[in-house]
Amino acid sequence: MKYKRILLKLSGEALMGSRQHGIDPARLKEYATEIKQVTDKGIQVAIVIGGGNIFRGVAGASNGMDRVQGDYMGMLATMINSLALQSALEEEGIHTRLQSAITMEAIAEPFIRRRAVRHLEKGRVVIFGAGTGNPYFTTDSAAVLRAIEITADVILKGTRVDGIYTADPEKDASASKFDHITFDEVMEKGLKVMDMTAFTLSQENKLPIIVFDMNKKGNLFRVVSGENVGTIVTN
Ligand code: UDP
Repeated sequence: MKYKRILLKLSGEALMGSRQHGIDPARLKEYATEIKQVTDKGIQVAIVIGGGNIFRGVAGASNGMDRVQGDYMGMLATMINSLALQSALEEEGIHTRLQSAITMEAIAEPFIRRRAVRHLEKGRVVIFGAGTGNPYFTTDSAAVLRAIEITADVILKGTRVDGIYTADPEKDASASKFDHITFDEVMEKGLKVMDMTAFTLSQENKLPIIVFDMNKKGNLFRVVSGENVGTIVTN
């Protein structure tokens, strides 16, 4: 196995499966099975999940809602997804802990870095909910921040495309995929991997990002074992 401690970032939208919003239980189960394949190998797994399938702060603001209020709603949405993922993982027999950036003591531990690391060392999957706990950030930023804090080897950004392309492959048929790209090249070419805050935080801390297709069976395992899947961004 190439990586020993990973931070897996999943978007909220990925949980919708074929639905228009909310959570598709079948998709959730698929993800739990994928994650089990790597925890069975002794890989330490931390997860940050988005909330876009339920609520996005910007969407609220565009309808006249206070942006900060909307962002807090978005952070709560990530907690709903985190709880759903936690129970799907537990169904697979995986030990988990959920830590929230906003105190919700009845349902999650508060985020405590040292405790999170200890859980990982004991083989528990740690889910980080409520993003960074701050409005105007995204769960991509939360993923990078937590990955740095727990000294993860890599961020695995599970998406529905199989990597970073020269152009949007869903719109441009001539787009070609990169196997490897540097942070500088992503900037120069104006490609979108994560939002700028998350991206530069990752670059400054020399934390590699792998973008890969999480919906393809066995892919998470392949990435972790070091197979050339998706696109890797490094310094
Ligand atoms: N959010 C926030 N601070 C954070 C993380 C998330 O305010 O640190 C809010 C923000 O409103 C965002 C929403 O939570 O739109 C859902 O997160 P995100 O859009 O990153 O989810 P994804 O696109 O990955 O599903």
